[in-house]
Amino acid sequence: MDLFKEILNGNKVALAKGITLLESSLDSDNKKAQSLLQKCLAHSGNSIRVGVTGVPGVGKSSFIEVLGKLLTSKGHKVAVLAIDPTSEKTQGSILGDKSRMHQLSVDENAFIRPSPTAGTLGGVASKTKDSIVLCEAAGFDIILVETVGVGQSETKVSTICDFFLLLMLAGAGDELQGIKRGIMELADMLVITKTDGDNLQHSKNAKQEYQRALHLFPAMENGWTPKVSVCSSVEHTGISEIWEIISRFNKQMTSSNWKEEHRKKQNIYWLHHTIKEELGNKIYNSLSEENIEKLEEKLMSGKSIFQIMEKI
Ligand code: GDP
Repeated sequence: MDLFKEILNGNKVALAKGITLLESSLDSDNKKAQSLLQKCLAHSGNSIRVGVTGVPGVGKSSFIEVLGKLLTSKGHKVAVLAIDPTSEKTQGSILGDKSRMHQLSVDENAFIRPSPTAGTLGGVASKTKDSIVLCEAAGFDIILVETVGVGQSETKVSTICDFFLLLMLAGAGDELQGIKRGIMELADMLVITKTDGDNLQHSKNAKQEYQRALHLFPAMENGWTPKVSVCSSVEHTGISEIWEIISRFNKQMTSSNWKEEHRKKQNIYWLHHTIKEELGNKIYNSLSEENIEKLEEKLMSGKSIFQIMEKI
């Protein structure tokens, strides 16, 4: 199968194979992966990339399922990619399970890909960034990047997305949800989930509180004022309003050229990141076992890591 041609044709099996190639750590796959990526790059970019984060249980997969179905019914093609910082330990069990999105996973116009199960958070995010390129080349115009909100992964996801959506629970307390101020500052939109049944009033109160809190944050450099919304994935309420806001953001940021400039800046960030990581690995791999033992001996004899590093 000519992977590149098939991906351009929108073949999802080829897309999945292409992403597996990108994620492979075999040297023999690396060249093929880079060549595929290079070819796909010329056909990429035509999408809105939305990061969706929140603590486990907040309702991410339920929300993505309902939003995804709404979007495919409007004629969009939706790709869902996951970044799961716990994947190394749990083999991606938190976000890796496709069966969490029953309807979307069998939708012809949707593609769901769990998180790579190996590598550092930076590595996983970097692979996801490349996977986005392949999805776009395959004609997916809405990319949803799902991540578990446990601290660092949200920051990384903001380096590969245009729009950053933070899902919150009403009445659970920010500390409980592990929501740090820094993460709220990154969010283009806060969505209070499970706004149904007994939770309705709590959610509406929380919306007002968050709206007040966001006013205290510094303005965003692109002129966007973060929005606060409520939704229920069970009752399907608030979902289309959320999409309208994301679409508005997309239109504004495309016409002001911010989106393109922002993506350029993100690429520069990843260039630096890759150089640091690749060079670090190269130097480490160039050290012989004997060398490493000597370094360890120096450490045991009281030298600091900093002093040892200076000599490498
Ligand atoms: P995730 O871990 O963030 O992906 O959360 P899930 O989407 O798996 O949802 C966690 C639990 O919350 C599940 O039991 C869902 O059925 C429930 N849930 C999700 N969305 C809603 C909602 O809008 N309303 C209510 N009442 N429950 C919801």
